[in-house]
Amino acid sequence: MAPITKKFEVTLDESIEKFPCKKCCLKSNHKVVATYTERGSEDCGGGNTFDWTAFNQIIQCLGCEEISFRVESSNSEDWDHDDEGNTYWIATVTYYPGRVVGSKIIDHASLPLDIGEIYQEARSALDSDLLIISGIGIRAILDTICSDVKAKGRNLEQKIDDLHERSLVTKEGVQTLHQIRVLGNNAAHRGKAHTKSQLLLALEVIEHILIGTYIIPYRAKKVFKHIEPKKIAAPVAPNNEPAA
Ligand SMILES: [Zn+2]
Repeated sequence: MAPITKKFEVTLDESIEKFPCKKCCLKSNHKVVATYTERGSEDCGGGNTFDWTAFNQIIQCLGCEEISFRVESSNSEDWDHDDEGNTYWIATVTYYPGRVVGSKIIDHASLPLDIGEIYQEARSALDSDLLIISGIGIRAILDTICSDVKAKGRNLEQKIDDLHERSLVTKEGVQTLHQIRVLGNNAAHRGKAHTKSQLLLALEVIEHILIGTYIIPYRAKKVFKHIEPKKIAAPVAPNNEPAA
C-alpha cells in the first residue's frame, strides 16, 4: 500500500463569511468558530503524489445563532482553468445538517403521522442533495395523501385528477402533480435523479396541498374553537308571514 501522510492543524481565527443558514433560509453572515484542517498526501510512485486538503469548520450564524458544521475539500486531481487560463482547484462544500436556501420546512407537527414522517425524510434528503431518494420520497407523499383523502381512481393518474375534481388542487397544480408522478417513476424504477430545482418546486407544490388540506384546517379548529359560525335567521315579513 502506498504511504500516506496526514497533518492536522487547528485555527481559531473567528473570521466572518457568508454561508447558507438552515434556520434563516438565506445566506447570512457566519462566524467561523474553529477550523480543523487536514492536509494529506499519498505517494503514487515515480515521484507522483495525490494530495488533498479539507477544512472542517464549526460555524455559527450571526443572525439566529444556529451552530452547524461545514467541510470544504479539494484535491490535486480535481482542477480546471478560469477564463484567463489560470489553474484553480475545484472545492466541494458540504454542510451538516444539509440545507436549501430560500425554502423553509413547513410546520409538520399537525400532519397525519405517516405523511409527516415521509415529508421530513424527503425534505432531509433534498437538503442533503440525495436527489434520487428525495424524488422517491416526494412521490411517496403524493401516494399517501391520495390514500388518506381516499382519492378515487385505479391508478395515481386518475387519483390526481380526482384531487382536482374535489377542489384540493388547482388546475395548474394538477399539471405539476402529474410531473411529480412521472418524476417518482423515473427515480424509483430507473434510478434517475432530477435536478434540485425540479425537486424543490415539486416539494413546494406538495407543501401547498399539505398546508391547505391539513395544517390550516387544524389551526383554524384550534383558533376558532369557541366561535360558532353565525346562523343568519330568515327575514320575517311584518305580518309574521315568512318572506317570499
Ligand atoms: Zn441563521
